[in-house]
Amino acid sequence: MNDSIRRVKLVMLISLVSFIGAAAILGASMNSGWAQTAPPPADHPEITVHGRKYTPRSILERNMGTPEDQTTQFPPHKIIGNLYYVGTRTLSSFLIVTPQGNILVNSTYERNVPTIEKSVEQLGFKFSDIKILLGTHAHNDHQEGDALVKQLTGAQTMAMAEDVPALQAMKPGGKEHPIDKTLHDGETVTLGGTTLTAHLTPGHTHGCTTWTMKAQEDGKMYDVVIGCSLRPPATLTPEVIAEFNHTFPVVRSLACDVPLGDHPAQYSMQEKYSKLQKGAPNPFIDRAGCRNEADIEEAMFHALLGEQQKAGGH
Ligand SMILES: [Zn+2]
Repeated sequence: MNDSIRRVKLVMLISLVSFIGAAAILGASMNSGWAQTAPPPADHPEITVHGRKYTPRSILERNMGTPEDQTTQFPPHKIIGNLYYVGTRTLSSFLIVTPQGNILVNSTYERNVPTIEKSVEQLGFKFSDIKILLGTHAHNDHQEGDALVKQLTGAQTMAMAEDVPALQAMKPGGKEHPIDKTLHDGETVTLGGTTLTAHLTPGHTHGCTTWTMKAQEDGKMYDVVIGCSLRPPATLTPEVIAEFNHTFPVVRSLACDVPLGDHPAQYSMQEKYSKLQKGAPNPFIDRAGCRNEADIEEAMFHALLGEQQKAGGH
């Protein structure tokens, strides 16, 4: 073997090693993004809802996108009335603006907080005007940044009682998870004339919280639903089964004109955003789409339950 061939082989070996290293790092970062579901969910059962096929894995991929999607700013925009989107491509963060200060729903990952801050400022608001910080559920892709947001804004943090233990276990960089007030099913949070109602919709987590509020546009009032994830875990325990059996009828019963969710794909944000034009009807007003996510996840829940029962599980 002459020197140049040996050198080429060495270069190839080094590239292979660094490729494997990069793949391992990517795998690890994806796993941390999907912390609630390690190992990744199965590619079965497959269900078809409203003409589209889904598996547990495809739903998770739809929700999370790539690691880059999770951390890349999506253009901040007005959704309706005093409600704005300030999240990334695949992790929702909502800003509610009132004369007495603002409310933020979902801080997402701690590393996304500067991106959320940038989005808030690009819309012409001050990050320091956030007075209340809320969340949809105690997973790190939605609420890991709470401690940092609290540190930067002094906002009061509120959480559904059933999610408190999971939130307390979330300590990025060793920081205590801030919980200033514990909420219970049906409690309301009011600031500057806007009231949000916290609906306990457990299953995905024990304290999964669906928020509802009214927004005004062109003299009309609209019911907004900020949905918590309804994605079932791989293993359905009797407790989780009971939770989902409570949750699906609850979310279906909520008055809804504007469906939103903690992952933008749950309400087809990208498609709706691309339809935003001055003078055209607001694409986020989508009564026909209000039950879409419940339809998908409830079908998946029953398919998983069937599979589990067949396998002799719970
Ligand atoms: Zn989650």
